[in-house]
Formats: sequence, structure tokens, C-alpha cells
Amino acid sequence: MPFSSLGLSQPLLDAIAAQSYAQPYPIQQEAIPAILQGKDILGIAKTGSGKTASFVLPILDLFQRKPVVRNRFVKVLVLVPTRELADQVASVFQAFGAKLPRKIKVMSVYGGVSINPQMMALPGAEIVVATPGRLLDLVTSNAVQLSAVEILVLDEADKMLDLGFADEMNRIIDRLPKNRQTILFSATLGEAIEGINATLLRNPVKIEAVEEAQNLDLIKQVAYRVDPERKGPLLRYLIKKGNMRQVLVFVSSVRTADNLVVKLLKNGIQAAAMHSQKSQGARTDTLTKFKAGKLAVMVATDLISRGIDIQLLPHVINFELPRSPKDYIHRIGRTGRAEAEGEAISLICPEDEHHFRVIQKKMGKRVELIETAELNLLGF
Ligand code: AMP
Repeated sequence: MPFSSLGLSQPLLDAIAAQSYAQPYPIQQEAIPAILQGKDILGIAKTGSGKTASFVLPILDLFQRKPVVRNRFVKVLVLVPTRELADQVASVFQAFGAKLPRKIKVMSVYGGVSINPQMMALPGAEIVVATPGRLLDLVTSNAVQLSAVEILVLDEADKMLDLGFADEMNRIIDRLPKNRQTILFSATLGEAIEGINATLLRNPVKIEAVEEAQNLDLIKQVAYRVDPERKGPLLRYLIKKGNMRQVLVFVSSVRTADNLVVKLLKNGIQAAAMHSQKSQGARTDTLTKFKAGKLAVMVATDLISRGIDIQLLPHVINFELPRSPKDYIHRIGRTGRAEAEGEAISLICPEDEHHFRVIQKKMGKRVELIETAELNLLGF
């Protein structure tokens, strides 16, 4: 099915061609016509499914027919759980919107950076991509008005609920007009999401993208059995011996992330940490360098395992396992994207073995566990 059969207008089709998207992904085939028709959407989809373009394209198309009115009244509000995702979604709007005849001002707003520049830049923004806390601050200070929102998008809604944004989301939704189109994407369909469905969505078109299972087949999964005190040296051994030039290392705490980075740097491996205690400037800088292949190792907490799209990331290493099997799949899903093969490595201490078996069972895949006791890690 070509993009031209989805009801999009020619300027949008040209913008899609400029991004070299040949065919719509399954989620786009279903979501784009429905959104163009003004329907609500309940989408169960993860990053990698193409969900962002599935709402960005029809929203931009709907704007082509709207008169330009520059004021404080936002027309489209996209709520996301993290700052990085806010920037990423806004950049997809900007990439597709850049050459359209009807210009659209898109802005991302999030906390962790000073509020004043955002206040100054907001007037005239028709599409706002925001994290909930900062948006409420901006609403309170009258920098933005939500009473004319026509389309609400909740992206990674389950993650927003996990992160404790429920109260803030409700306060925002209370300020929106009742008569609007609502588009919700969530990686999973839990009770809380069903609750949102019942209260916020009107007879939504339900779409489920089954991308993750296909992705997993592209990922070579390996695990190494290792004693806790040998984990650091083993990590450095794997990176150096494997000649890894772009590897995302997951840890479970901010402290471990910082400690690992210090040791990696001492051993001549370029590395930087990515976690919630870093300033927004540092986070953006690290991610940009890593994406561009200018930083060999990014050590991250689960903050970025969701939602962040890095094309062709060859290696992911779980220095520590995540608690939930779901998060394991999200983490390793950072590699094996865009049909390229990737490798996911997990370092398993004796006390992790039971938990790792649970993860494999949930995932429906067995992972080879390689012994490292005999491995000489001297000098790493
Ligand atoms: P998302 O799930 O929205 O984060 O998108 C995942 C990746 O797929 C992004 O890098 C998109 O640029 C890419 N993508 C989305 N739709 C298509 C498409 N129809 N053809 C090729 N790439 C796409």
C-alpha cells in the first residue's frame, strides 16, 4: 500500500518522499486515514513501529487547510514523558513541516532548563510538545492557553503514568475543551490505560502494532556469567576486544552510571553518562554526540530506554538487568532497528540468574549464557 492511498495531500506526499520513506508502516496505514477523518485513536505501539509519523503526518495535513492565527492558543498539544522525547517528536514535526506551503510553528517545552526563553518563544506556537510539569508551569504563568486545543496526543501514555504524571495529566486535561480529537499511544494496554480509554477517548479506532517480536529476531542476544567484582573489567574487555564504537550501556542507578564512566575514561574509552541528575544541556550534548557516532559509550539509566530513536545502534549492554522483563525488551530494542542487525549483551551475576530466567521466559527466547571465570581480565 503506497502513502498516496492514505488520503494525504500532495505537499505531505512530497515531504514524505524527501524523507525517503518508501512505504507506510502498518500502524501508519491504519492511523493516518483515521486521524484525517477526525477519529480518536487508541494505539498500542512501541518506539520503532513508526508511531510518531503516524500522528505527525495527518496532523500536519489537517493544518494545511487551517487559517494562520498567531496567538497564545495552542491547537495541538502533544504530551510526552521525557525531555528527549519532546525534542524528538518536535523534530519530526519540523522535518516534515519544513517545506509545506502553510508554515506551522512547533515548539517543545520541558523542565530542567530555564522557563523564560520558553515563555518568550511560545506566542504563535500552534503545536506544542510538552512534558506535563513544565506545561502546567507555563499555563499557570499564562504563557500558553489550552482552551482552544483541537487535538490532544498522549505519547507513551503508560510511561507517563509510571513516572507519576497522572495528577498533572489530569490537571492539564481539565483545561482542554471537551470537544476535541484525542490520540493515545501506549506501549502496553494496562488497567490505567483502559481507564483513560473509558474517560478520555470517544469510540476510538484501536490499533495494535506488533513490531517488537520482529525486532527481537534481528537482535543477537548473549549473556556472560560473571562475578560482581569482575563486571567492570569484563565490560571494558568486551568493549575493547569487540572494538565497539557505539555502545549503549544500561545501569540501574545514577551512581553506577557515574562510576562506570570514570573507570571507562581512565581506561581510555570515550564515555559519558546519561541520567536524570545531568543538566539538560549535558543530556542533549551527550545524546547528540552519541547519535553522531562521536562518543563510543553512553552509560544510561532507564530514563532513555524508552522512546529514544537511535538509528543503527550496533550494541546494547545490560551492565545491570532491569527489574521488569518489559524494560529488558525496551532496552535491547534500542538495537536491531531499521532492519539492521544488533547485539544485546547482558552481564549476569550469580544472584541475577533466576531473574534472567524469568525475563527469558516472558520474552519467549532463550539466551546463551557464556562462562567468563577462566577469562583473563588483567589489565582491563
Ligand atoms: P518511531 O516508532 O516513531 O520512533 O519511528 C521509528 C523510526 O522509523 C524512525 O527513525 C522513523 O524515521 C522511521 N520510520 C517511520 N516510518 C517510516 C517509514 N514509513 N519508512 C521508513 N522509516 C520510517
